[in-house]
Amino acid sequence: MRFKKQIKILVSAILAVALLITQFSASAATLSGLQKNLSDLQSKYKSLEVKQEQMKEQYERAVQDKENRLEYKNLLQEKINATIEQLDILVMRIEILDNDIETLEEQVEKKEKEIDANYETYKERVRAIYMAGETGLLEFVLSSSSISDFFDRMVIAKSISDHDNSIIEGLKGDKQELEDTKKRIEDNRRDLSSTKAELEAKQDELDRLYEENNAVIKELEKNESYYLSEQKKKAAEMKELNADIEKAYKEIEKKRQEIANQNNDPTGGGKTSSGSSGSGSSGSGSASTKVISGKVYSSGLMWPTPTLSTITSGFRTKSRPNHNGVDISGRGAYGSAIIATMGGTVYKVGDHGSKSYGKFVMIDHGTINGKSYVTLYAHCSAIYVSKGQTVKQGQKIAAVGSTGNSTGPHLHFEVRVNGNYTNPLNYFK
Ligand SMILES: [Zn+2]
Repeated sequence: MRFKKQIKILVSAILAVALLITQFSASAATLSGLQKNLSDLQSKYKSLEVKQEQMKEQYERAVQDKENRLEYKNLLQEKINATIEQLDILVMRIEILDNDIETLEEQVEKKEKEIDANYETYKERVRAIYMAGETGLLEFVLSSSSISDFFDRMVIAKSISDHDNSIIEGLKGDKQELEDTKKRIEDNRRDLSSTKAELEAKQDELDRLYEENNAVIKELEKNESYYLSEQKKKAAEMKELNADIEKAYKEIEKKRQEIANQNNDPTGGGKTSSGSSGSGSSGSGSASTKVISGKVYSSGLMWPTPTLSTITSGFRTKSRPNHNGVDISGRGAYGSAIIATMGGTVYKVGDHGSKSYGKFVMIDHGTINGKSYVTLYAHCSAIYVSKGQTVKQGQKIAAVGSTGNSTGPHLHFEVRVNGNYTNPLNYFK
């Protein structure tokens, strides 16, 4: 039954192909699903980052506003204190004037009494003269012994009434003077009273402003703690998302490995031919270099990623002439260690990351054989050093990630000599 056997072979062949196609497409679908999931997570992360930045700005604005308000509060307090001092002085001065007015009133009263008393004496004297009859004074004058005596007596008689008159006039003048002084002081007191009323109104206004300002400060403090807690909340969410992103990368990697095994690809995931980095499309550089991690090469440099050695994009290739470094990736790239290739000082840290480099670290290695060396590590998922920090060769400085303009986890590594880009691979021969 050759025909039957042939059919059997044909059927099993079809089945095998069908199975292979099903498996492949199923895997491919899952992989694209995983990649979709990852990009969703990444865009969520980016929007969180934006929101957190906004919270940070609002928090900083609230802090600044509060500082200004506290300064204003101090200014108001100073003004209130000055007004209180002025008011105290005014009250004191008014008190003194009131005392003066009282004393003057007493003096005026005394003068009035003196005037009254003198007037009484004057009246009595006039009455006495009257009682004695015109003749009294006339007799006194007429009984003069001589003409000169007569004139003397006339003068005396006149001077008696003149004297009384002048005393009374003098007293009246004194009294007028006292009353004038009293009036001046009363005017003065009225001025002071109105000034005092003005000051009191001013103080009321200052008190009102002070209360108002305090209320604003309280409100700002409330905002401040709200924005701060929101910032913390967002940071926690970002941390969680970061873990999800890391997990998503691992799942994608695992899936790729599965597909590679199903296709019986003996090279495994090391090559990641499907391109763990979309940017690594250059044919010329996409190969594993025979680097030895931990070795100090004759150039003085150490390979920057101890667990990764796949070059997914080379230095200034035909397809990417402006690519000023090399892209390094490989299995388990996401979150793996990045080390300082040489000792030096952390020159720059892109914590929030630039659009192209993402989170990055730059290390200044100083001058070696008359040339200055700076290395750059980009697209990191985490950074473990800060600006100005001294690092040793081989020290872990960051973790591989996919921040910035990157389509998959990899390290973008640059070596700048005297400010010029050089091919990093030249230092690992
Ligand atoms: Zn690159």
